[in-house]
Amino acid sequence: MALRATYEIRCGCGTTFAGDICEYVFAEHDPELKDSILSGEFNRMACPSCARGLHVENRFLYRDERNKLWVWVCKREEEARRDMLAGELIEKNASLEFHFLEDRESYRKFLVFGREGLLELLLKEDRTLKRKEARSLKTNPAHRLILEGKEDAGYLFLSGEKIRISLPLKFSEAHRKQVKGLEGKKRWLRYYSQGLNVHNPYSSFLTRKLRLKWNRIREKEPPGGAANEFDDFAESWAGYRMDRKRFKARYPERRLFFDALRTVSIPRRVRSLDARLIPRESG
Ligand SMILES: [Zn+2]
Repeated sequence: MALRATYEIRCGCGTTFAGDICEYVFAEHDPELKDSILSGEFNRMACPSCARGLHVENRFLYRDERNKLWVWVCKREEEARRDMLAGELIEKNASLEFHFLEDRESYRKFLVFGREGLLELLLKEDRTLKRKEARSLKTNPAHRLILEGKEDAGYLFLSGEKIRISLPLKFSEAHRKQVKGLEGKKRWLRYYSQGLNVHNPYSSFLTRKLRLKWNRIREKEPPGGAANEFDDFAESWAGYRMDRKRFKARYPERRLFFDALRTVSIPRRVRSLDARLIPRESG
């Protein structure tokens, strides 16, 4: 059973059309819908006039009877209002539970933001995904795409059996000094993607102990700008690989941590998509 509602959707080409957006996903009754969340096809539709694929992000409820999960998925942009939303949803929840749940007390309730937030949660709390997907995510190769001269610097794509995740590569102005020219930027992004490959919210190779250690070091040697531990890791790793001497002087503890990590085996290879997708300039 999936509950849908019709929304007015506006495409970048100027066309407005009515599309059915899914607002409730009951995982055990709708395996295909669950798969579409994993693959990224969920609430994606084609514009009837220009055929462009549009992803419509809306709030939805994800219920999983087997693992007893009751998850409110809000929009990514709503994360800043987390506390307020939590209150709002608890009220809404109270009336919804009455309709859909028999033993409502046994469900664990979560509030997450965006498909990414839901995937992060499911990889921990959905037993089947945890077993199958988590393993294949770690062994299937990751793919790196570096985009030149575009607003987004590129992506690292992870794929499991069903899950597809794209992690944005970030390059901030703060690193301009350290990085020379386009080649330098590409090198930085390659290292950044290596860092993301080692430690990201969905599939990290840091053990619990190493992760604790990393977060202790982050407190002692606070980062320049990166907001969360994953971006900080990737950014710091790129800085470390770009210029070890300079890095060592500024971040001695981080440097020791990274030195030690070089002996950890990371079975997931990163393959480049760049050459195939970006035509070389001729002449
Ligand atoms: Zn269109």
